[in-house]
Amino acid sequence: MMRGGKVAVVGGSIAGCAAALAAYRGGADEITVYERAAGDLADRGVGLAVHDARYAELSSAGYMDAGMPWVQLVRRRWYVRDDAAPAPVGREIAVMPFPFRTYNWGPLWRELRSRVPAGADFRAGTPVTALRPEPGGVRVETADGAEHVDLVIGADGYRSVARAAAFGDVRPAYAGYLAWRGAFPEARLTDPGLWDDEDCVYAVFPGGHVIIYRIPDGAGGRRVNWVLYTAPPPDLDLGLGLDLQLTGPTSLPPGGLTEALSAHLGYVADELLPPYWGAVLLATAPEELFLQPMYDFTAPRCTADRVLLVGDAAAVARPHTGAGAVKALQDATVLESALATADTWTDALDTYDTDRTLSGRSMVDLGRRLGGALVQGTPDWSAMDQAGMETWWRQADGTGAFGGRELRR
Ligand SMILES: Cc1cc2nc3c(=O)[nH]c(=O)nc-3n(C[C@H](O)[C@H](O)[C@H](O)COP(=O)(O)OP(=O)(O)OC[C@H]3O[C@@H](n4cnc5c(N)ncnc54)[C@H](O)[C@@H]3O)c2cc1C
Repeated sequence: MMRGGKVAVVGGSIAGCAAALAAYRGGADEITVYERAAGDLADRGVGLAVHDARYAELSSAGYMDAGMPWVQLVRRRWYVRDDAAPAPVGREIAVMPFPFRTYNWGPLWRELRSRVPAGADFRAGTPVTALRPEPGGVRVETADGAEHVDLVIGADGYRSVARAAAFGDVRPAYAGYLAWRGAFPEARLTDPGLWDDEDCVYAVFPGGHVIIYRIPDGAGGRRVNWVLYTAPPPDLDLGLGLDLQLTGPTSLPPGGLTEALSAHLGYVADELLPPYWGAVLLATAPEELFLQPMYDFTAPRCTADRVLLVGDAAAVARPHTGAGAVKALQDATVLESALATADTWTDALDTYDTDRTLSGRSMVDLGRRLGGALVQGTPDWSAMDQAGMETWWRQADGTGAFGGRELRR
């Protein structure tokens, strides 16, 4: 077993905090986390979901626990607009099990941040400007100076400098559609009795869908969280000031949507969704709304020399997989056992790479397939029934990795 060594973690978000914990448990002597943002990471107040089975694995590995506030979901109901049968929630076309816990990103991150070992040096407001391979390690450069470390863990998200240092300019590819995201206090909901607490809603329409579920607000209450996936009309002014194909990932912060993007959201809510779910979207204030274009990406490998990638730096799957945060936390658990069981850095890096490269690729493939089924090549929803939906979902999910692959330990 290998003990000791100096480790730098680039990025202190979900993957970075978990990786710092993994390096500590795996035996590293000195750990520095470099986080570009000063102070707490800006919380957008929106949610994420974790499959019950993946939660059980992550909790037994010590990376999640019941102290992180969550809302339990049990089933998902699929609704389609039907003007001939005008129930406000629409016509229900199927009900399926949905064993997921939902989280609010901000409180989840704060819990993980509080678990970064006290001995680790967390340097907020310190972007890493360059990483240079050196004999026996890597030189980490910031505006404050440089240090030599044995291992760099790149947890710096989908525009990773660690990945660029290891693999050059490999960029995520725009998938061709957008996610409008929003969340607001549950008290704003009219007729809450129309929507059971344990239900995740998929309201579907030609060319997309909205997923709606409740999340904790981190203060004992709950918020309504939704994500609408659809392609914008080709001539719509995205206002990103960027070409999504050429310049790579970007997103519009809360309050930053152009008028055209807000108008398209209004059109989907008014014309394509059942009235109740459309009204949920329209109850969202501009400062509670943001936009995230969809990308697919995997790095060629998860390690190169003494650089190892975790979370979104390594692979970005479309959120339909329901596994973005799960994947980041799984990366950390595999990293911990790779460090704890290896005799050399090379062994540890190889063990990690073998497991996580494959896993990342399979989640990106699943994201493409689900994006195809749920957005880019939607079936005739109005003709679907329970049996038809179950067959369609089995084909889309393929190997059954929805919610994340099983963690092998
Ligand atoms: C502020 C914030 C809010 C988010 N909110 C949600 C949400 O509500 N729901 C959801 O599903 N997902 C959210 N995400 C994305 C989610 O965290 C990721 O999709 C996933 O959990 C994997 O996380 P990650 O740590 O790999 O990447 P990210 O969360 O993207 O984190 C990357 C981190 O690296 C830092 N960084 C980047 N470059 C450098 C550098 N050169 N030097 C030092 N630090 C650097 C960034 O500041 C960031 O904190 C959010 C991400 C951020 C940063």
